[in-house]
Amino acid sequence: MQNKLTRRHFLGTAIAGTAGLRLQAQSISFPSGQSAATEKPALLGGKPIRTMQFPSWPKINDRDDKNWTQVLRQGLWCRLDGTYAKRFEEAWAQTLGAKYCLATASGTTALLTSLHALGIGPGDEVLVPPYTFIATVNVVLLVHALPVFVDTDPETFQMDAGKIEAAITQRTKCILPVHLGGSPADMDRILAIAEKHKLPVLEDACQAHLAEWRHRKVSTLGELGCFSFQASKNLNCGEGGAILSNNEELIGVCESFHNNGRGVAGYDFPYVRNGSNHRITEFQAALLLSQLSRLEEQSRTREENAEYLTKQLREIPGIRPARMYAGCTRNAYHLYMFRYDKAHFAGLPRSRFFAALQAEGIPCSGGYAPLNKEPFLKNTLQSRAFRSIYSAQEIAAYEARNHCPANDKLCEEAVWFFQTMLLGSKTDMDQIAEAVRKIQKQAALLARA
Ligand SMILES: *Cc1c(COP(=O)(O)O)cnc(C)c1O
Repeated sequence: MQNKLTRRHFLGTAIAGTAGLRLQAQSISFPSGQSAATEKPALLGGKPIRTMQFPSWPKINDRDDKNWTQVLRQGLWCRLDGTYAKRFEEAWAQTLGAKYCLATASGTTALLTSLHALGIGPGDEVLVPPYTFIATVNVVLLVHALPVFVDTDPETFQMDAGKIEAAITQRTKCILPVHLGGSPADMDRILAIAEKHKLPVLEDACQAHLAEWRHRKVSTLGELGCFSFQASKNLNCGEGGAILSNNEELIGVCESFHNNGRGVAGYDFPYVRNGSNHRITEFQAALLLSQLSRLEEQSRTREENAEYLTKQLREIPGIRPARMYAGCTRNAYHLYMFRYDKAHFAGLPRSRFFAALQAEGIPCSGGYAPLNKEPFLKNTLQSRAFRSIYSAQEIAAYEARNHCPANDKLCEEAVWFFQTMLLGSKTDMDQIAEAVRKIQKQAALLARA
């Protein structure tokens, strides 16, 4: 599997990895006394460790049906007419302990709206991690600001807070940490640096539903915090997003901007700013409201399974599960992330490790490629709009600063399991660990074949 796999590819592969075996939906039992690990790798024609599919996503029940049908039948499909969006916003704000919530069309539009509300624009710099989904960087470019990459802490996969201050310049206007994979970034240090330099913190919590830093929900720690409810996310309505804040004025600007710059909520026409339409629909909100009723329980299952899996994986030489910062009191486990060191696997390349794992019935991904090296970034900086804002020297100086060696290395070593794999049983986790142990035992054979 390549580094650059998209979520869609990954989900496709996750399903394809087991699709052919759908008919044999029971777990394999091994003859007594014979360990699976001594058997031939499935990649070389042996029996796979696992033939069952991992839990499907999304989960739906009658409540989703009822809410969805109600919106449909009532004919109030726009939030300016119905009540579901408002009700979801109240429920989500209450769940997180935030004063205000504004639902949006997506996580991307939540971030974009937030940057507008913070007044970020041409000539500004925003500190971002290079290890994130592309939207975190795209929104900065969309407001014609420069995304300045702060290298990654490979132990945690998060923005390295120890490298933030060195990246701050006169032009820095915002710190945009991502709680990648659902594990909180180092918020004590990030908030302290932000306060010292008088910079707002915009939290990208798009992967971190219910994650906590010192028992406070992420997205409520900075000035603004954003969520995504896109299909792959832990709370899902196909597409959707939200902005959380305790700042009435800022959320008011977000509200106005996302509703075509209207000065009041609703259909009226007093326009007070340049805006856009990033409203959520009632359909999305109705699904979120019903899905939300299961989020706590699902999150607990993910957390229990992830912790159980970590206990096994960390005992395997060459497998290093992502560490959490001391302030993390809850990890949302949108992703289960670890580093693979091929030196402990007879030099077996990571791509071959993926193939072997998938053959054993365990879907996996290599995660992100280094975003700071994406060719489109260079192209955007060379666009007419950017060249009219930034001089050639400014762009050259930006590019000279754009190096994240720790992240480059991490992108070569990372392995991900997807959140849905954590929604099943402890046996599922046993099988994941067993597959890794089996591959390690057979690594020399796999490397030669
Ligand atoms: C999913 C995601 C987004 C964007 O959310 P969409 O709802 O897909 O627009 C932004 N940042 C991160 C870290 C994400 O994972």
